[in-house]
Parts: sequence; C-alpha cells; structure tokens
Amino acid sequence: MNLFGKEILNIAITLECDCQCKHCYIESFEGISDKDLGLKTWKEIIDLFVNNGGREVCFHGGEPLLYENIGKIVYYAWQRGLETSIISNLISLDHSLIEVFKETQTYILTSLDGPRENYFQFRGLDKLDLIIENIDLLRKNGLSVHPIHIVHGKNYSDLSWITEFCNSREIKVATLSPLQPIGRAAQLKDYWLSPEELGEFIDTFTQLNKENKRVKFVTQSIFKPGDLGSFTAQENYLKTYNDRYLNIFNDGSILPDFDLPDMRNFSLGNITEIPLKINQKKEKAYRETLDKAFIRGKSKLQKGIPINWIEEVQIAAKEQLSPDKQGKNLEKEE
Ligand code: SF4
Repeated sequence: MNLFGKEILNIAITLECDCQCKHCYIESFEGISDKDLGLKTWKEIIDLFVNNGGREVCFHGGEPLLYENIGKIVYYAWQRGLETSIISNLISLDHSLIEVFKETQTYILTSLDGPRENYFQFRGLDKLDLIIENIDLLRKNGLSVHPIHIVHGKNYSDLSWITEFCNSREIKVATLSPLQPIGRAAQLKDYWLSPEELGEFIDTFTQLNKENKRVKFVTQSIFKPGDLGSFTAQENYLKTYNDRYLNIFNDGSILPDFDLPDMRNFSLGNITEIPLKINQKKEKAYRETLDKAFIRGKSKLQKGIPINWIEEVQIAAKEQLSPDKQGKNLEKEE
C-alpha cells in the first residue's frame, strides 16, 4: 500500500463530543484512546501528506470544534495549500473559528436532523435552533454549508423538512445518510431501514433530485434489484473507493475506512511510526472484506433485495472478525 499517493487526508482529530447522539458510531471503535498527538505532530503529518501530493484535508471527530488547536491546524493545512473541510455538529462554533473558516474557505459539513422532535430524539439535546442560527451565520460569512441528514425507519418516507430547509437557504448540496446499524445505532432496531424501506428511500431520493433542481441530494452507494447491472459495473470503484483516502485517527492509527465496526481490528499501523510499517495481514483482511461484501451484495440484488454497500461491508467486516455470529448482529431480516 502506498500511503502517500492519496488525495484526501481524513483526520478524526478528537473523540470528545458535546452531543449524545443515540446513533453515534464512536462506540464501534474498539480499544478507544483519547490520546492527542499534539499540534507539532499533526503539522508534521500534514507536511508529509502535502509533500507526497495530497490535495485536501477533512477534520472529523467526535466533535472537531472541541479540539483545542482546531483553528491552528485548519489554518496550517490551508497555508500548506490544502483544501480544508470539517464535519461538525456546530454546537461549539465561536467567532474566532468563523474567522479562520472564512479566511481558509473551509467547507462545512454539519449534521442536521430536524424537525425539533427528531433532533431531540436523535441527538439527545434541544439544540436545533442553535445549529440553524450557526448555519445561517456561516452562510452570512460567505461559507458553503453542507447538511448531513440521517435517514431512518421513522422519517425515510417524508423528507420534507430537510428539503424545505435546503431550498429556503439555497443550500447547494446535502447528504441524506441512511442510518448504519453500528456503534450505538446497533441498539436502535426500530430505526433501522428494512430492505423494503431502503428500496422506498431510493425511490424518494431519486424523486427529490428530479423535483429540486437547486439542491443536489447525495447519499451512500445504495442499489435496488433493478440496479444489478450498475452494481456489477461499479465493482472496481466500490472496492477501491477508500484508496483515495488516508484515514488517521486521533492517536495516529491508520484505518482503511472510518465506517467499519470494531475498526481497530483493521488498523494498518500508526502514522507516527518511523519507518512506517503497514500491517499487510490487516490490509489483506480489509481487501477480503470488500470482496465478500461484493459477493453478498450481488447475491441479495439477484434475490430482489435492495442493498446499502456500506452495510454490506460492515456485515462482512463483522464476519471477518468472528465468522460464527458477528455478521448476524448487523444482518437485517430479508
Ligand atoms: S454522532 Fe457525531 S455529534 Fe453525535 S455524539 Fe457521535 S460524534 Fe458527537
């Protein structure tokens, strides 16, 4: 694996968070560590990435705005010529950060789960008004804001709130993200999308993009049985999608993908190790996981079952770890 032929650096800069989301994926991280590499080391990692042709950096969490040096590291990455983006719940946004984001033209992705009852139920806090105020403030400062709206078993058929929100603010792109049954969401069976509901969501999603020309809705790689040809044609793309990304965790762990359950089991090494050693066995296990996910996904589509590619990878990853039962925990009724 060539770590530094990558285009996009994803950094989960902290695992701390000021929200209590019921569906948070953080709990799927086995052996979680709150270690911070420190500003100097993060700058060195960014230097390494830039010197090897990297183009973009995205700061994730936890909640990245809680990282004490977030403004400094975003600014540094921008000075080094990288495009910058951040995925934040925007609860802890303050004036000084807005100034940094403005100067660096940082692209802001934010979780937005209205209406109020939905936000409260999912995020555990009554902060929707604050988030909307902060989105408006960022936009007033000339920044692009990209909402990420979780789609689940109780809202998939009516996405009017997020549609109206985006249209009323001339938001250009929004993600509709089907709930993934990992982390805390593994306990939310009532909210998982059944295969039939996923199929209905795919229709709603297609319709939304036909009807709303000003906003582009994007989503995960989801397929209906009629898309079997397209799924097969995308085999190489699906299996190599993460090759563009260098995913680094707060303690320096290198991960092939941020959306795997028990992802530490797939940790490829640590970016701070010199010389860098990549765990070939784990890399091979990840590639095998993708192969198995593809076979499983294809077989489901052939049987007439809609699929979400990320979930197929998660199920295959669980099975990879514990072939007897783990995958079954994520498998929905077919
Ligand atoms: S889902 Fe995001 S915002 Fe919610 S608790 Fe987890 S890290 Fe925080």
